[in-house]
Amino acid sequence: MSTVDRSPDAVETTRPSSYDAIIVGSGLGGLTSAAYLAAAGRRVLLLERYDVLGGSSHVFRRHRKWEFDVGVHYIGDCGDDGLVPSIMRGVGLDDRIEWLPLEEKAVDTVLAPGFALDFPHGWDEFIANQLAAFPNEQGAIRRYLSVLRRIGEAVDVSETLGSRSGMVKLVRRTGLAAGALMMPVAAFQLACGLSPEAMMVNSVHLGAVATTPDVAPPCCCPRS
Ligand SMILES: Cc1cc2nc3c(=O)[nH]c(=O)nc-3n(C[C@H](O)[C@H](O)[C@H](O)COP(=O)(O)OP(=O)(O)OC[C@H]3O[C@@H](n4cnc5c(N)ncnc54)[C@H](O)[C@@H]3O)c2cc1C
Repeated sequence: MSTVDRSPDAVETTRPSSYDAIIVGSGLGGLTSAAYLAAAGRRVLLLERYDVLGGSSHVFRRHRKWEFDVGVHYIGDCGDDGLVPSIMRGVGLDDRIEWLPLEEKAVDTVLAPGFALDFPHGWDEFIANQLAAFPNEQGAIRRYLSVLRRIGEAVDVSETLGSRSGMVKLVRRTGLAAGALMMPVAAFQLACGLSPEAMMVNSVHLGAVATTPDVAPPCCCPRS
């Protein structure tokens, strides 16, 4: 994301006297709303308190060598008919971005002292890797991951987390596994009988990265 020109001249010369919409925050949500409103001919003021646009989607660099993402490190649903390309297409930006596929064999790798575990794409490979990594707790791993899989496969990214009715549909689709949706991940992991090491590895991999496992619900870890 580009940096913002904060000089008074830049602000004064480009500022109209009134707006149809004022958006606070230039994260992906604010930028998307602003782009759609502007494309519809509205006068939009987008306010950002930081000096870089993008919110959790921006990156910063150190020593011109290391790049750190503030939040977003990969984005799902980027196939031709996916949600993200559709949003970009709506404002004519889809041909400006090339989506690269994730590494099939290791979407993520969790490293700990004396321990490394790849998280491959696809439930079958994902579960097989975990069973191989924790041979002494096959039952617990199977219990835990079968519920996560049920939840993950029931998530519809276009509606589940965006509305109350989307969540209700998720609960219906999830069936008996829905009980786990009400539990913090750590409590659910304990209930399944995971060891502290398996809990640590699986907690690192949570989608709800801004929260801790004692509050994040299992619906934050879909992998499908
Ligand atoms: C650590 C982490 C990792 C993540 N990883 C992924 C991932 O890999 N893939 C994925 O799809 N999603 C990921 N997410 C989620 C994703 O980052 C968010 O869903 C998305 O970026 C949120 O966008 P947003 O516009 O809602 O908010 P934000 O990105 O949080 O943007 C909010 C903006 O508003 C600004 N702001 C706030 N208050 C004010 C104010 N009063 N005045 C002016 N400006 C203000 C902030 O400075 C910020 O720029 C991750 C999130 C985190 C925290």
